[in-house]
Amino acid sequence: MTELFAELDNPTFRLAVAQFDQAAEIMNLDRNLRQRLKLPQRSLIVTLPIRMDDGSINVFMGYRVQHDSARGPCKGGIRYHPEVNLGEVAALAMWMTWKCALAELPYGGAKGGVRVNPSRLSSGELERLTRRYAAEIFPLIGPDKDIPAPDVGTNAQIMAWMMDTYSQQMGYAVPGVMTGKPRSIGGSLGREEATGRGVVDVTLEAMRHLGLALDTATVAVQGFGNVGAHTARIMREAGMRVMAVSDKEGGLYNERGLDIPELLRRYRLDGHPSLRDTKMGDWITNQELLELNCTVLVPAALSEQITKRNAPRVRCRILAEGANGPTTLEADQILTDKGIFVIPDILANSGGVIVSYFEWVQDAQRFFWTEKNIQDRLHDIITAAFHRTLEFAKSTKTTMRMAALISGIDRVAKAHQVRGLYP
Ligand code: NAD
Repeated sequence: MTELFAELDNPTFRLAVAQFDQAAEIMNLDRNLRQRLKLPQRSLIVTLPIRMDDGSINVFMGYRVQHDSARGPCKGGIRYHPEVNLGEVAALAMWMTWKCALAELPYGGAKGGVRVNPSRLSSGELERLTRRYAAEIFPLIGPDKDIPAPDVGTNAQIMAWMMDTYSQQMGYAVPGVMTGKPRSIGGSLGREEATGRGVVDVTLEAMRHLGLALDTATVAVQGFGNVGAHTARIMREAGMRVMAVSDKEGGLYNERGLDIPELLRRYRLDGHPSLRDTKMGDWITNQELLELNCTVLVPAALSEQITKRNAPRVRCRILAEGANGPTTLEADQILTDKGIFVIPDILANSGGVIVSYFEWVQDAQRFFWTEKNIQDRLHDIITAAFHRTLEFAKSTKTTMRMAALISGIDRVAKAHQVRGLYP
């Protein structure tokens, strides 16, 4: 397969394909469908020449990959990161397909990215890069075709520039082309915190299932961006003791629990957010954080953080995967052998795409819901997906990850079978 499509070959893509192969084998998936579902349906590579503030021109590489659209328009975030590449974007697009199917959302999977360190760009440079990227991927996207959203390194302002660029080309406002937008242009209440809220919803269900008490539960969160910060805040609001959080420099640790609201205030006040500068706990490395003795560990940064090297030292009771692909295949087996309850990424972090779906529905209807309505519907959908997955895992004696993957893949396979092969 890698000979077929060598451009995609990178560790994250290999991980996504290895997970798919395992699931496909267990479910005895049709051989022809396997070949198709391992590879993206469409991949677009774009070059983005951008005028920098000093007058020079830099060229950046951008990508948009649609993994599968059998069940509906494609959906998936846009990542700005210096290591973005086609294989990583293709892996993330594949996970989006299974994630949407698992939550029973009427979407296929996609992902996009630009190979850039956004913190090195001025606001003007970032806007020009974003608008050029949106213009270059214009043929692929649209509210009925492919709807991007924020991911690592992107935010609501970037979604607003993309929505505006798309709308300028169309000649009228098209709010439904992006989700994760600001409220003033059709964004949804509750979208920003949605992924974190979903992580907490499924963690609480897992704790109930395992008979773990809330008031003695401790939490460590790797990554303090959109997913990590909201997860830490909502875990604390739910009554858990958040002992450690981290960003790319390292982490803060306080055995008695970090004061998350105060930490968020200090972190955001700083123009160059740095956890270390908040001085609110002992300084630890990201590796130390992952190995803390805690009830719940939430990796909420990048992929391949828990590997065969550190997995033997991971000491949590529940691993709730806020990030996409944080656990390698070998590590997964080690965690299973240790009896750690893993809530896999395509389930644990699906709150983001669930509320993105709500945003898209609200934009189509031009009718907006209350925050309570959004939180309640998110809770209903994600906890139902959790229990379906748990029941399936129990009845087939498989892991939560395999149960989630098989459920997602099976829905996509059924859509392909009933639609047939064109031409
Ligand atoms: P973000 O850019 O807002 O935050 C990323 C965080 O990770 C930052 O705090 C950064 O400092 C930290 N980080 C970066 N490199 C690190 C490293 N090597 N070690 C430790 N920390 C590091 O991104 P985000 O939107 O919070 O996304 C985080 C993860 O969650 C990604 O895997 C993303 O694909 C996934 N995810 C995001 C959403 C969403 O709605 N934003 C939805 C589903 C899944």
